[in-house]
Amino acid sequence: MLALRKTSTGFGLEFQDVPDAQPPGPGEVVLKVDAVGICGSDVHAYEWTGGYEFMTDRMPVTMGHEFSATVWRCGTGTGFKGGERVCVIPMVACGACRNCRANDSRNCLNRQGIGLTRDGGFAGQVRVPAACCVALPDAVDAELGALVEPLGVGAEAVLTGEVKLGDTVLVMGPGTIGQAIALFARRAGAARVLISGRADAPRFEVCRNLGFTDLLDVAEAPLQDLVMAATGGRPVDVVLEATGVPATLNDGIGVLKKGGTCVVVGIHAGAVTLPLTDFVRNRHQLRASHGCERRTWDRVIAHLASDPEGFRPMITHRMPLERGIEGFELSRQRAASKVILTP
Ligand SMILES: [Zn+2]
Ligand SMILES: [Zn+2]
Repeated sequence: MLALRKTSTGFGLEFQDVPDAQPPGPGEVVLKVDAVGICGSDVHAYEWTGGYEFMTDRMPVTMGHEFSATVWRCGTGTGFKGGERVCVIPMVACGACRNCRANDSRNCLNRQGIGLTRDGGFAGQVRVPAACCVALPDAVDAELGALVEPLGVGAEAVLTGEVKLGDTVLVMGPGTIGQAIALFARRAGAARVLISGRADAPRFEVCRNLGFTDLLDVAEAPLQDLVMAATGGRPVDVVLEATGVPATLNDGIGVLKKGGTCVVVGIHAGAVTLPLTDFVRNRHQLRASHGCERRTWDRVIAHLASDPEGFRPMITHRMPLERGIEGFELSRQRAASKVILTP
């Protein structure tokens, strides 16, 4: 079967013809991949700009961690049967380390990433532990099923930021994770959701299609000015950062109310200097959010099932797996928002 793989360090990905997935062992399933999204982190690994060195001794590895699939073959004791549609939590816990033994598998010390350190969804088939699979209701079709993972990252950030009814929220970064944060902030009851970005017309357009109108382009004016103009001079209640640009953190904190919470979600290539005296005097709360809990997956799927079309505008491009490199280039040049590949 055709698989899109990271085969070596350095720029790029490679198509390889690989054997079909091995038969499932106990507790495992082999899935036929129905739809798989290209993630910002996939693009970073494609460009090899730093932060993904942990993949090196796992290469060649089939990438792709945002996917939905149909169960094809089941090992013993999986609880699934052939033909069931699922999405996949792309984290495999070891089951043996001290955290796993303490029922805290999210913090497994030997966790593996499906599509990063073991084979993922940019292929026709993939073998995964059944424990990673979450059943999809009929209302959530294949391409929306591939959105569950990034939507979960956004939903978890909103939970971490404790967005409340009536809040004014600033989301920094209009990409998929920013869009997911904005959608769940609105669903959590935020009265206003401002989204900032820099000269990012295609992804601002997606935000508009999702119903957001307070779009702040920091290529035109400083963030502080844009936010204060939008709010009538009031700082915001919660800032959620999904830019991955370290310098944006101070811009975000600069428009945060006293006692307000800033959640960092982006993966940053460098460090940042934080003026601590202001930070302390303003009692700002700085938090991090990464990935999402199992129960957040269930919540996201429930939202998708109740309003599938409310999320679909996030997907801007659909193409067969064979055109995957083209999809990566569109993502890299920020000409696309979410690109969905179908094996
Ligand atoms: Zn992702
Ligand atoms: Zn473990």
